[in-house]
Amino acid sequence: KAKNASEPEFLQAVEEVLESLRPVIEANEETYRKEALLERLTEPDRQFKFRVPWVDDKGQVQVNTGYRVQFNNAIGPYKGGLRLHPSVNIGIIKFLGFEQIFKNSLTGLPIGGGKGGSDFDPKGKSDREVMAFCQSFMTELCKYIGADVDVPAGDIGTGAREIGYMFGQYKRIRGMYEGVLTGKGLTYGGSLARTEATGYGLLYITEELMKCHGESMEGKTVVVSGAGNVAIYAIQKAQQMGAKVVTCSDSTGWIYDPEGIDVALLKEVKEVKRARLTEYAAARKSAEYHEGRGVWSVKCDIALPCATQNELLIDDAKTLVANGCKAVCEGANMPTTLDATKYLQDNGVWFICGKASNAGGVATSALEMTQNSERLSWTFEEVDAKLKDIMVNIYHNIDDAAKRYGHEGNYVMGANIAGFEKVAKAMLAQGVC
Ligand code: NDP
Repeated sequence: KAKNASEPEFLQAVEEVLESLRPVIEANEETYRKEALLERLTEPDRQFKFRVPWVDDKGQVQVNTGYRVQFNNAIGPYKGGLRLHPSVNIGIIKFLGFEQIFKNSLTGLPIGGGKGGSDFDPKGKSDREVMAFCQSFMTELCKYIGADVDVPAGDIGTGAREIGYMFGQYKRIRGMYEGVLTGKGLTYGGSLARTEATGYGLLYITEELMKCHGESMEGKTVVVSGAGNVAIYAIQKAQQMGAKVVTCSDSTGWIYDPEGIDVALLKEVKEVKRARLTEYAAARKSAEYHEGRGVWSVKCDIALPCATQNELLIDDAKTLVANGCKAVCEGANMPTTLDATKYLQDNGVWFICGKASNAGGVATSALEMTQNSERLSWTFEEVDAKLKDIMVNIYHNIDDAAKRYGHEGNYVMGANIAGFEKVAKAMLAQGVC
């Protein structure tokens, strides 16, 4: 703890994982201690921090900080997104990279854990400025990545535009056409259904959870936070399943739309105009706009946090329980604080943590890597069907793991155990490295 005292998010993520691994650790204590397995698991293989200088539209040089943490490659090349947001620091990237190890393991695909990003804020920047940043960022990052080494992807602030600029720069410097990034455009090696994958995958696992408790999505009221990539496609799939989604949010405010969010309008505002949610409210009669945060105050059957870390707090958990919410499935990474998670679980809410429920994004990224290696492209239906299978399997794997250790229904524990077991076996088999 002392060693990582300045990285609270990283400590939070490690604490959650280690706490829920307690029964597995106790059962294998001697081996893990002798092999220093947990010490090795919580120390990244390596981390890079670098200067990213770029020129803005006024001719002024700006300087940001870039990061890449290669956490663990016991089961495959490092894989994880690049976050571009002013809040990014090494602690955030380390927490995300650590979580990614277990999430990637849960997909059943051969991918290790990593994460990266920068404190650059793409908001309000021109396309040329974003390109200048991305090219400078990749000029350094390209030294450390490769199709069989480390394959970054999108995350907050990194969408198709940013991935395109970065891919172009990698190709130019390395002189190689390889699947070094995922989330690419469809004309240059991207996979169909990758854009939708995290949001759709979240709904596939939520649907399976409901089904296994004798319920369906049909007619359910759902609250969603966020209005980015994950949120938009979660809303779309929930509606296709017959649920009604009544909220979304961004970092300045939130929408309550009792008639159900209009996905086409939301996409126009967020994906095309890159505007604020006030524009959604202005264009839609049934919608109310509120400043600040507040989606969790709306009565619902299912809550899907899809914005960012630590956005569902203990008081929100109390409100959700009081309002009769049955299930919380995380679309974002670590959106629910530890005390809020515990409160939800203690009060009978079915809770699936992000490393299981948002794994559809990275799983489809791994399918993009497979297609790139094959030099083939699969149809939307093929990718979507594989995604659904993966998510349904994840549900049953985490459910079984929780049952095996006598904690039926504790999907956080199940996810950490199931994700950990495969990585631990691989690490032990590969000796001290
Ligand atoms: P986007 O950048 O597309 O959207 C993020 C959304 O969350 C935006 O609506 C944004 O609002 C809001 N948001 C971001 N930061 C904050 C903040 N500090 N406070 C309040 N709201 C905030 O990102 P994604 O949808 O891709 O990612 C959302 C979450 O899902 C993240 O935790 C990410 O790590 C996780 N995730 C994403 C995957 C993917 O495939 N995209 C895969 C797995 C996990 P605003 O527009 O105002 O910034």
